[in-house]
Amino acid sequence: MSDGSARALIAAAGEVLLDRREQLPLADLAALAALPDTAVPSLAALAHEVRLAWCGPEVEVEGILSAKTGGCPEDCHFCSQSAKFETQVLATPFLDTDEVLRAAEETARLGASEFCIVLAVRGPDERTMQRLLELVPMVRDRVGINVAVSAGILDDDQARRLAEGGVHRYNHNLETAQSFFPKVVTTHSWEERFETCQRVHEHGMELCCGVLLGMGETVDQRIELIGQLRDVEPAEVPINFLNPRPGTPFGNLDLVEPLEAIRWIALFRLGLPSVILRFAGGREVTLRELQTMGMTSGINALIVGNYLTTLGRTPEEDLQMLEDLRMPVGVLSKVL
Ligand code: SF4
Repeated sequence: MSDGSARALIAAAGEVLLDRREQLPLADLAALAALPDTAVPSLAALAHEVRLAWCGPEVEVEGILSAKTGGCPEDCHFCSQSAKFETQVLATPFLDTDEVLRAAEETARLGASEFCIVLAVRGPDERTMQRLLELVPMVRDRVGINVAVSAGILDDDQARRLAEGGVHRYNHNLETAQSFFPKVVTTHSWEERFETCQRVHEHGMELCCGVLLGMGETVDQRIELIGQLRDVEPAEVPINFLNPRPGTPFGNLDLVEPLEAIRWIALFRLGLPSVILRFAGGREVTLRELQTMGMTSGINALIVGNYLTTLGRTPEEDLQMLEDLRMPVGVLSKVL
């Protein structure tokens, strides 16, 4: 593709998203996915403009706590918390209340507006439901922070009870395109995930629905995934990049290359202009020196501190990056 045609494609996308404020057709996104590497910085610049125009300048900061780690009966091939694979993750029971409160306080101290309690489970059993319904209002009222939960597949009644119990946002990832999902997970279906996302919506919780890029999916499947995310209307989309975990079936895959990661962050922003697009797991090993460029390619939220089973940069480094970029930390759900 010539430089001139690349420029024309990017300009046409800008006209749709910025001048007409309309959604970009998936076919246009597919054309942008084929731009040469030299055009990626221009694509990223457009994605940054789109995020400012559709979402404003604030960046949302969130902390996550793995409140029950490992021992999961599911077989997600990327996940070191599955009991089906021999990994270095040790299964631990649900943390006690004091530990959860301490983690929430630490998260609030960093200026975060959202604290997510994450459990490695297929879905919550009744005992887990009771613990969540006890913890969520306690954390919200004592610490004064929004509480999100990630506890797997929900039935309709569980979604209703969590919404009534004060869960502000529920995380349930589609992870990948419907057509690729059977290569990633065999113990549950993509449709079960999709239905949980719909239930979260129906019961009035904000939906946080993440993706994991770099598992061998094709370019077309990434575009397919953007279309499927549009169908579940998430408030937030965390972008994870595969950080291959030893012992898992995907432990030997290559990392996504840094400039490719920037290209896809930008494409997810152009495809989902109004969502909170969050930098999540795998960003340090994937983006390496391009961390800051990620922030100006359409991202408007960060997970600070450690991820579920891998260590992140220090929160201070991330907060310094935001300060250097003059990006204010804010509460995005209030402005959406
Ligand atoms: S991704 Fe979630 S459901 Fe899948 S194995 Fe890991 S903890 Fe279990």
